[in-house]
Amino acid sequence: MKRRVCIICGYVYDGALPFDELPDDYACPICGVSKNKFAVVTHDFKEAFLKIEYGLYLLTTRDGGRDNGCVMDAVMQLTDEPPVIAFSVNKVNLTHDMIMKSKEFNISVLTKDAPKELFSLFSAKSGKHVDKFKQFTDVKRSSNGIYYLSKYANARLSGRVIDAIDAGTHTLFRGQITETEVINNEDNLTYSEYRTGAKYRQMFCYQCQQTARGTGCTMVGVCGKKPDTAYEQDVLTYEMVALAKTMQSKNDNNAVLVDTLVDGLFTCITNVNFDTVTVTMIAEDVKSKRIKLGGGDAIKPEALFFGDKNIVSLRSTLLFGLRGMAAYAHHARVLGKRDPEVDAWFVKGMAALDENHSVDEWLGLLMEFGGVNLKCMALLDAANTGAYGNPVPTQVSLKVEKGPFIVVTGHDLHDLQVLLEQTDGKGVNIYTHGEMLPAHGYPELKKHPQLKGHYGTAWQNQQNEFKNLPAPIFWTTNCIMPPRASYDDRIYTTSVVRYPDTKYIETDANGHKDFSALIAHAIKLGGFPEDTQFTGGNGGMVMTTGFGRQTVLDNAGTIIDAVKTGAIKHFFLVGGCDGAAPGRSYYTDFVKQTPMDTVVLTLACGKFRFNDLDIGAIGPFPRILDMGQCNDAYGAVQVAVALAGAFGCDVNDLPLTLVISWYEQKAVCILLTLLSLGIKNIYIGPTAPAFFSEMVLNAIVDKFNLHLISSPDKDMAEILKN
Ligand code: SF4
Repeated sequence: MKRRVCIICGYVYDGALPFDELPDDYACPICGVSKNKFAVVTHDFKEAFLKIEYGLYLLTTRDGGRDNGCVMDAVMQLTDEPPVIAFSVNKVNLTHDMIMKSKEFNISVLTKDAPKELFSLFSAKSGKHVDKFKQFTDVKRSSNGIYYLSKYANARLSGRVIDAIDAGTHTLFRGQITETEVINNEDNLTYSEYRTGAKYRQMFCYQCQQTARGTGCTMVGVCGKKPDTAYEQDVLTYEMVALAKTMQSKNDNNAVLVDTLVDGLFTCITNVNFDTVTVTMIAEDVKSKRIKLGGGDAIKPEALFFGDKNIVSLRSTLLFGLRGMAAYAHHARVLGKRDPEVDAWFVKGMAALDENHSVDEWLGLLMEFGGVNLKCMALLDAANTGAYGNPVPTQVSLKVEKGPFIVVTGHDLHDLQVLLEQTDGKGVNIYTHGEMLPAHGYPELKKHPQLKGHYGTAWQNQQNEFKNLPAPIFWTTNCIMPPRASYDDRIYTTSVVRYPDTKYIETDANGHKDFSALIAHAIKLGGFPEDTQFTGGNGGMVMTTGFGRQTVLDNAGTIIDAVKTGAIKHFFLVGGCDGAAPGRSYYTDFVKQTPMDTVVLTLACGKFRFNDLDIGAIGPFPRILDMGQCNDAYGAVQVAVALAGAFGCDVNDLPLTLVISWYEQKAVCILLTLLSLGIKNIYIGPTAPAFFSEMVLNAIVDKFNLHLISSPDKDMAEILKN
């Protein structure tokens, strides 16, 4: 596959999806320029460039009383009479901008003992967010007043900028050296030692399906997550493990501390929080709670993602499952529901991440966790239906009426409810987006007449769907993507969702949220001048939802009769979370190929691949039954168990096949729940999780007959052959 490089910032696209198949509005995750600013890498210059050996240097400066610095590798001597050097700095660095103004610099020549923390600060973090010298104190000031390293460096060069040459993504500075100092005779750290040394690894994330190369994001997230955010999420995770261990040792599962774990885990889910500053603050809060509780030091990164690859795989699976379950616990808590067993398991699970277990013990823990996650989803089901009633079948229009409106996305029904209450009688309509679609089925939400319809499709299409919308968009939970300039001023987030420099709606001490700014923004934008019809991904003008557990169970008699008479021959549960990978068209094609005497149950945002299709009806039911959000997998399990009871068989003997798409960590906890229930023959795609080692994947495949999807016709034939 030909690689593409951003000609503005040098970012090399590394995603699993071929570049040509990316959506038209794909933009560089680093600098935000559009797809047409990417050039084909005609030959693999990077590999050859890596053969050029460099040293590593800390470049520091001071401007307007402020200190800053960054790690760089391109420094060379030009002449020694006069002493002149050249060095190259990426323009995205704050240090670059400061040197352009101050014209003065220090260069510390790094030695082999330079610690990871130095790179974490001076390479992975931006001085726009942190005062690096507050955290790194092995420094002195030279006579020009600029910091240099008193440790981890063997020499210091101080100088003044002679001139600066624009080199595209970088600036090449020529500098007159004014003062030098040899600090010691330790060996230089080279770039290749840094690049290949695990101790310097800056970013590693492989928690979602779109991870780079199908192995892990190491330079920048395919989701747009930057290395400094990834690093702070790792720090937050280590701190939460340490807090959980302390809670366990003190036998203290108090609700405030559990909620700290829950919200911290939720913060780390894909597409939830891109704001390094708030992630850092959350980690600091976790740390202070641990210290107050009398806990010891946080564990080190090595305890999570390094070591035996099978153990790392199992540990990662538990961590990502816990992140998913945290989302459900958070939503239930907002509606006043919590379960001591679920609370206790957050502590147990997080503490377990720093424990030594055999493979069998880890597998046992994962199955135990799957059972607890079922309880957590049951809790959320009770919270949602208790607050808003049982969903009822509802046809949802895709037309946006003229006048002011707000688009609400994410999963948090409580946020939607409060917004509906605050927009009552204000002439502002509300449209759901993405996973908020099932809200239309809940009686206590649909009673608000301004809840008009649904706009758009699944989360991964948002950059296209939001760009020309004359309305603000409100993110209640995850699924936020780096916003484009065309709509970033119309973004409002709340709760755990954060994106730098966008508007955030706070929760006050009484749990109240004030949406007046969001509502005023909608009124100011005014909406469309005329009613505007939109469609789903297949051109349909309505979507149907509201076939929750109770509706299906209330009609169990009709369904059982239909199975007995042969009107229904098979049930498919086709759902899960969606993503941008082209292989995901499998799910649309699969549903289109389902025979007319079969029923498609669906849930989560994977349904937007087909939920506007009219594939007919069986008796009173449309053949596609939308059971709700991803957490409504609980309802699907209840339906399966009830049907098995009615037919006097095991769930695995029902004419039912689960065909699941996965993307982020909520899918991980749901998969573990299904496996813990002993459900076999699940089809999952579009790819196996990168965090499953070969051994772990094989173990699951062997025990549960898990299938990776192949092609719709082949899988369909295999499923229906019995
Ligand atoms: Fe990569 Fe997914 Fe992690 Fe983002 S969340 S950095 S895309 S693995």
